[in-house]
Amino acid sequence: MKIAAALGFNLIDYPGRIAAVAFTPGCNYLCPHCHAAPLLANAKDIGDAGFLEYLGTVKEWVNGVVICGGEPTLQPDLIPFIEEVRSRGLAVKLDTNGSNPKVLARLLAENLVDYVAMDVKGPDTLWPDTAGVPGYEAAMRESMKLVARFPVYEFRTTVAPVLRAGGEISFLTVPEMAAAARLIIETTGSSAHKYYVQKFVPRKDGLLDKRFEAFPETPIQLLQDIHAEVLKHIPNTQLRG
Ligand code: SF4
Repeated sequence: MKIAAALGFNLIDYPGRIAAVAFTPGCNYLCPHCHAAPLLANAKDIGDAGFLEYLGTVKEWVNGVVICGGEPTLQPDLIPFIEEVRSRGLAVKLDTNGSNPKVLARLLAENLVDYVAMDVKGPDTLWPDTAGVPGYEAAMRESMKLVARFPVYEFRTTVAPVLRAGGEISFLTVPEMAAAARLIIETTGSSAHKYYVQKFVPRKDGLLDKRFEAFPETPIQLLQDIHAEVLKHIPNTQLRG
C-alpha cells in the first residue's frame, strides 16, 4: 500500500488513544483549504514496510493507528494493511472524506476498523465549493448513513473559508453550519452523533488554493457562535481546536 509518510504519534488524532499516523497519498477532492496539499504534492511512498518499521520503533508508546490522507479508501491494498496493523494488537481509526461508500461499506460491515471519522464539508448546497469538485453528493450522503450505523464514529466539519459565487472568500457562517447539522440529522434520521466543529488553521507552506493562505484561523467568537447554534440540533457537538 502507498503511504506517503509516518506523521509521528499523538494523543489528539484518535480520541482516547495514543496513535501513530499513517498518511496516504492521493485524494479525489480538491478542497481549497486543504492542509495536506504540500504532502499530497510531494508525496513519497514509504510503503507498508516503511510504516510498519516506524511502528516497530514506537510500539511501546502507541495503542492505535490513524489512517488519514489524502483519502485512504482510494488505496487498493488498504484492507491487508489494516489487517497487518490490527494483528499487532493496535486499534485502527480511519479518516475519510466520505467519497467512497463502496469501500467504506465493506470496512464497516466487516468491522475492519475500530473508529471512523467522516468529514462533512458544510451544508450540501456548498459541497461542490468546499470539496472543490462536484459529483460526490450522493456518495457523501450514502457514507453518512453507513458511518452513523457504525458503533464508534464521529462526523466533523472544519469551519474553513469558502470561495463564494461572486469571488468573495469568507468563513462558513452560523446559518450554514446549522444547515450542515440539519443535513446530518435528515440524512441519518438521528441527532445522536458525536460531531466536532473544527478550527481552520492556515499554514505558511501552502494550502491547495493560495488565496486561502491569507486567511487567519477561524475566529474564536465565530466558533463559539457556531457551537451554540449547532448544539441546538446535535447535542453532542464539541469544538476542536
Ligand atoms: S482536505 Fe479535502 S483535498 Fe485535502 S485531503 Fe481532505 S478531502 Fe482531500
